[in-house]
Amino acid sequence: MDPKSIVQSMIRPAIAAMSPYIPGEQPQGGKFIKLNTNENPYPPHPDVAEAISAAARDRLERYPDPLGTAFRIRAGEVLGFDPEWILCGNGSDDILTIITRACVGEGDVLRLPYPSYILYRTLAQIQNAKWEEVRFNADFSLPGAFAIGQDRLRLVFLPNPNSPSGTVLSPAEIGELAAKLPCPLLVDEAYADFADTNCLELVRQYPNVLVSRTLSKSYGLAGLRFGFLVAHPEWIRVCRNVKDSYNCDTLSLAGATAAIHRQDWLQENRAKIIATRSRMQTRLAELGFDVTPSSANFVWCTRQDRPVQPLYEQLKANKILVRYMKYEGWGDGLRISVGTDSQIDACLTVLESLL
Ligand SMILES: *Cc1c(COP(=O)(O)O)cnc(C)c1O
Repeated sequence: MDPKSIVQSMIRPAIAAMSPYIPGEQPQGGKFIKLNTNENPYPPHPDVAEAISAAARDRLERYPDPLGTAFRIRAGEVLGFDPEWILCGNGSDDILTIITRACVGEGDVLRLPYPSYILYRTLAQIQNAKWEEVRFNADFSLPGAFAIGQDRLRLVFLPNPNSPSGTVLSPAEIGELAAKLPCPLLVDEAYADFADTNCLELVRQYPNVLVSRTLSKSYGLAGLRFGFLVAHPEWIRVCRNVKDSYNCDTLSLAGATAAIHRQDWLQENRAKIIATRSRMQTRLAELGFDVTPSSANFVWCTRQDRPVQPLYEQLKANKILVRYMKYEGWGDGLRISVGTDSQIDACLTVLESLL
């Protein structure tokens, strides 16, 4: 037998059948304006690199703090929670993995809205669980079916703001959903810092509401890999049994702790991104796009009059990378991350010349 068949014969059937999660392109060469993976165009506060250097100088021979205590204390102060309500993760993807492993077994059902974050499906596949995609209504509200319990439903993922739409459901709507669901509702708040509302209060009200956050987007730290969970201390205790003992390394803990201390930096960049977003939405609409009003750091736009895939290709030929997304049975569009003003101007100028 050739090595490929040997490996395939040795792995679980659920893994053999998996289609991989494909993240957005990360071009390694060339000078691209990167507007395809919702990174922050602004770098983190200089304190972050400073803290990472200091940790690299002083502490690499030791294992990290397995619980990330310093980060949890400061994050708790910022968000109004005791540290017992916070769990650190190696990116919020790690948090989503931990929760899935804790709650979803073989043959169980994981529910997610459609279209939304593709990774949720992959997490279900790894568990050999089923996933049930419930379509958003045309206005990106959720149909009643999303709240209906069913046999073996073990976990519901809800990105809020959602990707790729950038739309947000109100905490009141999500609270109603939580009250009806017989299972945990994980609200993925990767983009909540760019919205006007969030669901942290629901975590206190409903034991089945968990909120995940990431430093990748709003804090400009996608390269660091740091996210966290806010949930009832009993959830945190359970997650500690499931997670890798040292799931966050010394450098990311140092960087994340420095970053969470600089709320002024966060607010400044947030304001810049929201201003650029608003300008970008107006101009895209003038250029004939149907623009979904965004509460995130990206804008979802579609067109009635022509296919958008060629626009993606032509932007790429001009060294501007946006995300072309096509959802089976739902439609396609461009998801354009909010860059700096000059990056967005370059993108709009190319689009203008193409239309
Ligand atoms: C980017 C993103 C994440 C992943 O965040 P990391 O902390 O970088 O792992 C999670 N959920 C959604 C919806 C995202 O868009």
